[in-house]
Amino acid sequence: MTQITHWINGALDTKKPERTGDIYNPATGKVTGTVAFANAATVDLAVSAATAAFAEWRHSSLTKRTQVLFAFRELVAQNREKIAALITAEHGKVLSDAAGEVTRGLEVVEFACGIPHLLKGGFSEEVSTGVDVYSIRQALGPVAIISPFNFPAMVPMWFFPVAIACGNTVVVKPSEKDPSAVMFLAQLWKEAGLPDGVFNVVHGDKEVVDALLIHPGIKSISFVGSTPIARYVYETGTKAGKRVQALGGAKNHMIVLPDCDLELAADAAINAGFGSAGERCMAISAIVAVEPIGNALVARIKSRMANIVTGDGTKGSDMGPLVTAVHRDKVASYIEAGAKEGATVVVDGRNLKVDGDGFFLGPTLLDNVTPKMSVYTDEIFGPVLSIIRVNTYDEALNLVNSHQYGNGTAIFTNDGGAARRFQNEVEVGMVGINVPIPVPMAYYSFGGWKSSLFGDSHAHGTEGVHFFTRGKVVTSRWLDPSHGGINLGFPQND
Ligand code: NAD
Repeated sequence: MTQITHWINGALDTKKPERTGDIYNPATGKVTGTVAFANAATVDLAVSAATAAFAEWRHSSLTKRTQVLFAFRELVAQNREKIAALITAEHGKVLSDAAGEVTRGLEVVEFACGIPHLLKGGFSEEVSTGVDVYSIRQALGPVAIISPFNFPAMVPMWFFPVAIACGNTVVVKPSEKDPSAVMFLAQLWKEAGLPDGVFNVVHGDKEVVDALLIHPGIKSISFVGSTPIARYVYETGTKAGKRVQALGGAKNHMIVLPDCDLELAADAAINAGFGSAGERCMAISAIVAVEPIGNALVARIKSRMANIVTGDGTKGSDMGPLVTAVHRDKVASYIEAGAKEGATVVVDGRNLKVDGDGFFLGPTLLDNVTPKMSVYTDEIFGPVLSIIRVNTYDEALNLVNSHQYGNGTAIFTNDGGAARRFQNEVEVGMVGINVPIPVPMAYYSFGGWKSSLFGDSHAHGTEGVHFFTRGKVVTSRWLDPSHGGINLGFPQND
């Protein structure tokens, strides 16, 4: 049995916790360990360690910081498979998905290795006679990162490489469902030469999040999770005077225009709908088929679904289990609701049988879904694809723009003009053109619109650097040496 505890000031916390939570292997349904739940006193210890470490880390040279980042990058790359195995054991996603997640996180570390360039400020010479103005960006202090279960390594890595590179110290609060990957990353930071106290981890649930949100030592909050909690975190954190970026839920639409390559669109629907069992904030869950291609598209998706092997993620399957039994049952209840509200159940994942007690649900396809059905209005976060049929591009666009979420979207078409119009008109933060999961590269920024993001800063890229630093502008006048003072050998004015 694994016993996960907090990582404070470069060491494991040895205190006996007041509360713990169970960790499951979703593929077997068995408890594999426990995780300590922090209270306000433990949070205080972590923030004190981060505050003490900040005094030195903020003054560490850019050369030193990049050396540590490069070393960390090497260690993560060397241990990619090990980290992936930890993710699969607690999250359930298949090993190749887990390794892909580590790679995407690694790209942010690589981006952060360029921090000397990213922190360069502006300079204006002679704004007035003898006066120069320049800008610098400085670290905030201890910052908190609160992450969801679905990307236990990648989502924290959207933030902490950039935060640390900018000179901040961090307290990470991973999901209590799969806390092991971040603990392993903590050890790698130490091995990479990061001073103790710069990277701390506390575990738990609402109690620890609430303690972080109001702790006066925490200067900013980077949160990723469901929309109701993201809204709460944003409101509570900003009320306590903190800078907050809170990324929320999603309902990503894929618009399929009649002129597109239908084979490409069907492949994309399968990968984006059922990869990671649909537990991705960039998963496609609503496919908007612009007629007359509805029947042809549904037939292609249905025939591909027959080939998806659902099972233990360590055993070569295509799709793993859902994260908990409760979540599996909730997703299954949406299929029931969709059927009751009039959707056609083309493939019913509830019919899947996998040996053992794992939290499995097969891939599901619902056709003739309408905008009022709960399968359309709500984020399901499982392997359920809904087809909504419309007659025009304008109807399709209107659906996307009317939805409360605006995280990602994709259009499939061979018409460049239609795609260009869509990228301009759609009210969503991340747009794919013949690309179903348009996750921005690390040097761009990741984030949605509307109820998918509270706050104005997206993750990583230059917005990440901006979020984790404060701007300062210096206006300086240095008198010419000829002006006076100690005679340095320059000609003196009278
Ligand atoms: P969640 O909101 O349940 O939990 C996220 C974090 O908040 C966890 O660390 C959890 O411990 C904490 N938390 C849970 N309940 C809380 C409460 N009442 N008060 C304070 N803190 C609380 O989300 P989840 O189920 O772990 O993750 C799935 C959700 O995350 C989905 O909605 C998904 O769309 C979203 N997500 C969004 C993005 C994005 O970039 N927008 C990325 C990944 C996941």
